[in-house]
Amino acid sequence: MSEPIFNADVFFNQVCPVCGRPVRIRVNLLGRRVYCQHCGGGFTARDPAVGSGPSTEDRADELLARANDRLERATCGDAGPRFT
Ligand SMILES: [Zn+2]
Repeated sequence: MSEPIFNADVFFNQVCPVCGRPVRIRVNLLGRRVYCQHCGGGFTARDPAVGSGPSTEDRADELLARANDRLERATCGDAGPRFT
């Protein structure tokens, strides 16, 4: 009998991206969609210990996407008089 790496009774804390509060999540729900026990917001469970790898790229991509979005909005909304 070999035990699984994750014990189903082990929890970890993840900050809810919706309300910013720590949420207790079972490790066997990693990678699955979970719901915040405070606000009911849904998000994907991720182990913070594992998050130092590819998730940083995700973040960078997300940040870039947001920056581009803001830039586009900024250029669109800034269609006022130009000082040349
Ligand atoms: Zn929440």
